[in-house]
Amino acid sequence: MNDAAGHAENASGQTEHFDVLIVGAGISGVGGAYHLTKQCPGTRFVVLESQHSFGGTWITHRYPGIRSDSDLHTFGYRFKPWRGAPIATAAQILSYMGEVIDENDLARHIRYRHQISRASWSSSANLWTITATRADTGETVHFTANFLWMCQGYYRHSEGYTPHWDGMDAFKGRIVHPQTWPKDLDYRGKNVVVIGSGATAATLIPAIAAECGHVTMLQRSPTYFRSARNANDLADMLRELEIDEVWIHEIVRRKILHDQDAFTRRTFEQPDAVKQELIAAVRDLLGPDYDVETHFTPTYRPWRQRLAFVPDGDLFQGIRSGKASVVTDEIERFTETGILLRSGTLLEADIIVTATGFHLSVLGDIDFTIDGRKLEFADTVTYRGMMFTGVPNLAWVFGYFRASWTLRADLVADFVCRLLNHMQQKGARRVTVALRPEDKDMKLLPWIDPENFNAGYMLRGMHLLPKRGDKPEWQHTQDYWSEKDQIPATDLDDKAFVYA
Ligand SMILES: Cc1cc2nc3c(=O)[nH]c(=O)nc-3n(C[C@H](O)[C@H](O)[C@H](O)COP(=O)(O)OP(=O)(O)OC[C@H]3O[C@@H](n4cnc5c(N)ncnc54)[C@H](O)[C@@H]3O)c2cc1C
Repeated sequence: MNDAAGHAENASGQTEHFDVLIVGAGISGVGGAYHLTKQCPGTRFVVLESQHSFGGTWITHRYPGIRSDSDLHTFGYRFKPWRGAPIATAAQILSYMGEVIDENDLARHIRYRHQISRASWSSSANLWTITATRADTGETVHFTANFLWMCQGYYRHSEGYTPHWDGMDAFKGRIVHPQTWPKDLDYRGKNVVVIGSGATAATLIPAIAAECGHVTMLQRSPTYFRSARNANDLADMLRELEIDEVWIHEIVRRKILHDQDAFTRRTFEQPDAVKQELIAAVRDLLGPDYDVETHFTPTYRPWRQRLAFVPDGDLFQGIRSGKASVVTDEIERFTETGILLRSGTLLEADIIVTATGFHLSVLGDIDFTIDGRKLEFADTVTYRGMMFTGVPNLAWVFGYFRASWTLRADLVADFVCRLLNHMQQKGARRVTVALRPEDKDMKLLPWIDPENFNAGYMLRGMHLLPKRGDKPEWQHTQDYWSEKDQIPATDLDDKAFVYA
């Protein structure tokens, strides 16, 4: 199958063919490969990955302290028990993924250092042609595939998003984005300012606070945080009772999902009460004299942005120790020695870290054409955030904002495998989703309602994303608790699926 012979073919300029081509070897792509081997045995598939190894997000990000912000019981795959503490380091996640690859003999399907630049669909051949460049040899290589499984994530891996501020060129210290953290960055004894107060800042600050001279979290506006012990009492109890790990995984996942569902409902039904509880918990951690009102009281509804989790309250310990502090203000401009704030205060810095987010990357920055015409992704309508009108034989894994990404990666994988098997049974070579007669007058809206979720990278990139309709099947509802029943129950012979 996909072996040394395959490489030789491509090296000599031939085009290799696969039934399914998976883009990306992050948690979604490796999961997709697993599900294909189990649910569609005999499928010839390849995973193309631009980086030198698997892991996606978890090898791209190398800043100190890099860790998950959701629990690994649900961020881990449904099929492989997680045995560690709920919040895991990138290294632990990579090791878990490595076990999945080894235990299921997936390595032979993955080709690293393959940057895909083009994907062209031909309706006469019912095939995708994929062009990639090998980073090791510089060669251009070609593949054809019946089905494209897009597991490229949602942001550009090569660089993070850094806004422009006046005076940046004048700053004499180093400006660093966490996504491209320099190996040689020596922050010991230095004054560090971290711009941003999302999950990245909350992870990075406690990790460097002890060694820095001082670290300041500079935010324009406050974020909600949740803090708890990095342990799961139920998992610990079940382990004490010597329950099988497979059972523990399932039971603990169900309990976490049950509790998250209840919490998410409360954020919508009783936003003010939840807000007060979250703020009170921060006040408990920082003490009565701390100005929680200014620095930890957001103006938006909880869950309108991803809620940052702080295991064992480490961010707050850093603040209490005096090694870290929070400034809530706006940047006027950079100076030679730091950042001048609108209030007139000058924040002195040796290093400025811009924890300011991502560049949304739709479809992996790949140039797509359908029968020779450029695909304008934003002109399509999404079928459950997985497939797109007018785009044949393609599915995209886009996870959840309010629940672990992998819950959806598993759900979408089941759907894709079921669709592939269904096509085989029908003898169909092409499937495209299309609006049904009853959908023709459906209102088309942006991918996600900014009222519902308003993270900066989504707002900046919304115009690039497909449209949603006003029915659950024509949107990515972000609701795991309804999708877990609806996606498996999808009637693949519904008029929304057009086969050829
Ligand atoms: C720092 C950080 C922490 C996070 N923590 C959590 C968390 O705790 N819980 C949670 O649910 N979510 C979290 N997320 C969101 C996270 O991105 C997803 O959960 C998940 O890891 C995404 O997996 P993925 O495989 O879909 O995509 P990615 O991890 O983004 O992997 C995509 C892969 O595709 C490759 N690729 C992309 N384009 C191309 C191309 N053109 N050619 C070849 N290869 C390509 C990339 O190199 C990459 O390896 C976090 C994100 C970040 C940045």
